[in-house]
Amino acid sequence: MSAHTQTAAPALQLSPIVAGAWRMADWNFDVGQRLHWIEQALELGIDSFDHADIYGDYRVESLFGEALAAAPGLRERIRIVSKCGIKLTSAQRPEHRIKSYDSSAAHVRASVENSLRALRTDRLDLLLIHRPDLLMDADALAHCFEQLKAEGKVLHVGVSNHTPSQLALLNARHRLATHQIELSPLHLAPLDDGSLDQCQDLAMRPMIWSPLGGGRLFDEGDAHASQMRAALTAVGARHGEASVATMAYAWLLRHPSRPWPITGSGRVQGLRDAVAALAIRLSAQDWYEIWQAAAQREVA
Ligand code: NAP
Repeated sequence: MSAHTQTAAPALQLSPIVAGAWRMADWNFDVGQRLHWIEQALELGIDSFDHADIYGDYRVESLFGEALAAAPGLRERIRIVSKCGIKLTSAQRPEHRIKSYDSSAAHVRASVENSLRALRTDRLDLLLIHRPDLLMDADALAHCFEQLKAEGKVLHVGVSNHTPSQLALLNARHRLATHQIELSPLHLAPLDDGSLDQCQDLAMRPMIWSPLGGGRLFDEGDAHASQMRAALTAVGARHGEASVATMAYAWLLRHPSRPWPITGSGRVQGLRDAVAALAIRLSAQDWYEIWQAAAQREVA
C-alpha cells in the first residue's frame, strides 16, 4: 500500500465554493431574505454552508435554522458545516468568565447538541474544532469524535487554524476530513508554513476562510490592497476581464491542494464572483504575477 493510500482522508464532499454564514446577523435579513440567499447559492451550485456556534454572538445558527424550517426539504439539498471549541464572553453564555478554548468531550458534545437544535437538523455534515486548544487531550477528543459519528450526529470531523503538528497529533488518532485555514493574496502564510504541504500529503482538501481578506481587498485606503487590485485586474484582463474578486478566487483555486474557498458575501453577486472563478485556470506565470504583488517582492 502506498503512503498516499494509507493517508487518504475520508471522502468529505463539499461544493467547489462554500458559503459562509459568519456575517449573517449583520445582514439584517428577514427569514425570506435568508431563504432567498440560500436558494440563490444553491442555484449557483453552492450547496455547502459554513457555520460556527459562536457566529453572530451565538445567534447565526438559529437564524439559518429558521430559514431551513421555512422550506421543508431544503435540508436534504444542502451540507452544513459547524465549529466549536471557542468560548466567548457573551450574554448568551454568562458562565464564560473569560474568552477561552475548550476541546473537552463535554464541551464538544454540548456544543454539537446546541448546534443541531439551533440549525433544526439531526446531523452536521462536518464538525470542526475552531481553534487549537492548548489543553487538547487528543485521545479523549478522538474518542468523542468516534461517538458523535457512531450516533450519526456528525458525519465528518476536522480542524481549523491548527499548526501542522497539532493537526498531525489528532489525525493520528482520528482521520480528519479537512483543515479550514485563512488564505488570500493578503494572507500568504499557509503557502509556506507547512499547512498546505500537509494537506497535499494527507490528500486532505483545505477549506479557505477570508478569501478576499475579509473585504480588505476592496479597502480604498489600503496601499497593499490597491496594489493587489491592480495586479488582479491586469491578470484578469487576460481572462475575459474577470473581476478582482473572481481573480482572487481563481488564484486560490489554482493551488494543487484543491481548496474549497468559503465566500463571506451576503450579496448574490458576491456568490457569482466566486463561482465565476471555477471557469478560470491560471497559468503558473499568472499565479506568480499575483503572488509577486501579494508578497510585495519578486521570487528569489
Ligand atoms: P471574505 O469573502 O474574504 O470577506 C467577506 C467580506 O468582503 C464581506 O464583508 C463582503 O461584503 C466583502 N466583499 C466581498 N466582495 C466584495 C466586493 N466586490 N467589494 C467590496 N466588498 C466585498 O470572507 P469572510 O467573510 O472574511 O470569511 C468567509 C467565511 O469564512 C465566513 O463566513 C466564515 O464562514 C468563515 N470564517 C472562518 C474562520 C475560522 O476561523 N475558521 C474565520 C473567519 C471566517 P458583501 O457582503 O457586501 O459582499
